[in-house]
Amino acid sequence: MVKAFSKGIEIFLIPCLGDNQNYAIVGRESSQNIGFTVDSPDPQVITKFFESKNWNLDVILNTHHHWDHVDGNPQLKNRWNCKIYGPEYEEKRIKKIDFSLNESSTYQLGKHKFEIIHLPGHTLGHIAYYSETLGVLFVGDTLFSAGCGRLFEGTPDQMWESLKKLRTLPDETLVFCAHEYTLNNIEFALSLEPNRQSLLNFQNVSQEKRSKSLPTVPTTIGVEKEINPFLRADDIELKKNLNMTENSDVEIFAHIRKSKDTF
Ligand SMILES: [Zn+2]
Repeated sequence: MVKAFSKGIEIFLIPCLGDNQNYAIVGRESSQNIGFTVDSPDPQVITKFFESKNWNLDVILNTHHHWDHVDGNPQLKNRWNCKIYGPEYEEKRIKKIDFSLNESSTYQLGKHKFEIIHLPGHTLGHIAYYSETLGVLFVGDTLFSAGCGRLFEGTPDQMWESLKKLRTLPDETLVFCAHEYTLNNIEFALSLEPNRQSLLNFQNVSQEKRSKSLPTVPTTIGVEKEINPFLRADDIELKKNLNMTENSDVEIFAHIRKSKDTF
């Protein structure tokens, strides 16, 4: 398993169900290892990982109610007796949830505080977990590298506002997305802007990683602001490339999201 982070806590990548990217977080609290997972796509794979490291799984942090993020909750709770946190607005749709979170909640992992960011769009209650001190963001299915989540429940307006919230985070923030969709997303982004040099460079780097079976995540807010068209719906360069300079930012966002749905 790839270790993507080691700074007071450690973050490991656990690929699940083909293209889900699951994360295990381990930190020390009162000289004890505390183990977390963000979402629960595949209980067997997650359990095997924690067993292989000889760590307990103490906490599941759910981002939204979709089956490939929460269906492992009952089995993992049964095996580990872990506490399950998730978005307040979706608490009735998340099995075995113990604690509901909203934007005024925080989650404390040792000396690190995680803030809850409400991101309606992909689902209405979707949340992300952000730690300023660690500089990490667990963003579920809202933001992908070079892409964003489909609008299953929210409007383009809501999703655009959610993505703008993420854009205000520091550039160096590491973004842990819940799927490995990067190469396909880059292809789509290049269909909008075939000559965007930063995107072409990013495609090279990402193809190289995937050819070695390495993940392309985590990404960073700074990189995504440059290469992700869904974070650039207000960028005049993108508007020019789409011949849509007269359209509003939300109209641009809605247009590219709709085009991606059938790409
Ligand atoms: Zn989802």
